[in-house]
Amino acid sequence: MKIRTRIALVSTLATTAIFAGVVVLVMVFSSSNRESEFFRTLYDEAVTKANLFFSGTVDAATMHEIYLNNRETIDEVEVAIYDGSGTLIYHDDHEIDLVKETPEMLREIRAGGLLEFYEGPYQVVGLVYDHAGESYIVTAAAYDGYGLSKLAALRTFLLSVFIMALLLLYIAGNWIAGKALSPVKGIVDQVEDITGSRLGRRLPAGNPADELGELSAAFNGMLDRLERSFEAQSRFLSNISHELRTPLSALRAELEIAMLKERTPEEYREYIGRASEDAATIESLSAGLLDLARAGSDSSRISMKEVRIDEALLDARAVVIRANPGYEADIIFGPDEDDERTVTVRGNSYLLYTAFANLIGNNCKYSPDHTSTVTLSHYGDRLQIRFSDTGTGIPSGDLDRIFEPFYRGADSAAVKGHGIGLTLAKTIIELHGGTIEVSSQQGEGTVFIVSIPHI
Ligand code: ADP
Repeated sequence: MKIRTRIALVSTLATTAIFAGVVVLVMVFSSSNRESEFFRTLYDEAVTKANLFFSGTVDAATMHEIYLNNRETIDEVEVAIYDGSGTLIYHDDHEIDLVKETPEMLREIRAGGLLEFYEGPYQVVGLVYDHAGESYIVTAAAYDGYGLSKLAALRTFLLSVFIMALLLLYIAGNWIAGKALSPVKGIVDQVEDITGSRLGRRLPAGNPADELGELSAAFNGMLDRLERSFEAQSRFLSNISHELRTPLSALRAELEIAMLKERTPEEYREYIGRASEDAATIESLSAGLLDLARAGSDSSRISMKEVRIDEALLDARAVVIRANPGYEADIIFGPDEDDERTVTVRGNSYLLYTAFANLIGNNCKYSPDHTSTVTLSHYGDRLQIRFSDTGTGIPSGDLDRIFEPFYRGADSAAVKGHGIGLTLAKTIIELHGGTIEVSSQQGEGTVFIVSIPHI
């Protein structure tokens, strides 16, 4: 069922329930009002006729005549009068006789002073009437044709108003819901127009104070993020192919030149050496890309266990120094860092070691003394590792971008690299719930500060 129909139905049902309650209340009130008013009328009529009868101004035959005449046109009240011994002394009409008074009923009236009840469709009042020191019982009965027909008319009126209102309410509810939801239709049309190749499109902002404005803003925010990630992915892909093409072309050129003519063994060794260097570049780039893919994959699929950070750092240092003879790295542990708990994190040892090797390698790579100083300390529940050097530093214009994939600093042309080491390190640290920050002064050195929650 469409929301529009559902809103119309729900609002109609809610209003109908309230309206029905009001109708029932009006009917109950009117009905009890009619009943009590008619009992009062019967009482007055009983007293009036008893007064006439006992005053002797009108004789019984005339009163009887009046009763029969009025009965034709209106629902005349039928009155009967009994004396103290229960003997009937006056009756408007013996033959019609609406109320069959029994001795029991007369006793009840005498005991209570006043009795109101129904005899079939007729309302009856029985009362004690005192005259000249004697106590009489008067009963008055009649059918409240006028009151009941007024009540029936009221019921018919309320019922037809109720049905009409129901119809009108549904139509109005449907119209209001349609009006309120019409912007949604616009949004749906526009969203259908947005495809992967048209991610630059945005929904009109609408009124930011209402829910649909909020929906549009949230949707536009999601499109911003999607667009950024699409762009980043396509930039990443073109960077990969560019990075791979350069050493591959160099490798191919190297081999083709070598084959142009007969060479001396010395020359062949030189060409093969250069080709091998190009192959090593391709290998290190593809290894870095593989690591990046692993670190960027679904974190729930990466096996995590308790990892000693001091051990991961020592492994990283060993690998960096083995691969680059001449590099140095000092690892300094803070005073409390012999407590096993503060140097243990939940994580993946291979990924953490990869991140640390990149940071230590960068310190060495970008400083003339090829030295990295790693300091381990902890603050509260976090472990902090500082990777510092006294090297070239990073120009302030590069600081914001060095964590982007394939971004290489303006001053790094002379240094070998692919621009993925820091992206990889940041992805890995964030995967472990940590942060990485950089602080650098050109010409003075660089510090990368990694903070990871320990166990
Ligand atoms: P790569 O070192 O392969 O270029 P990275 O992602 O590791 O790629 O680093 C990105 C850029 O950040 C580098 O090109 C360099 O400009 C800068 N950078 C990283 N570490 C340092 C450092 N310790 N000192 C100076 N510059 C650095």
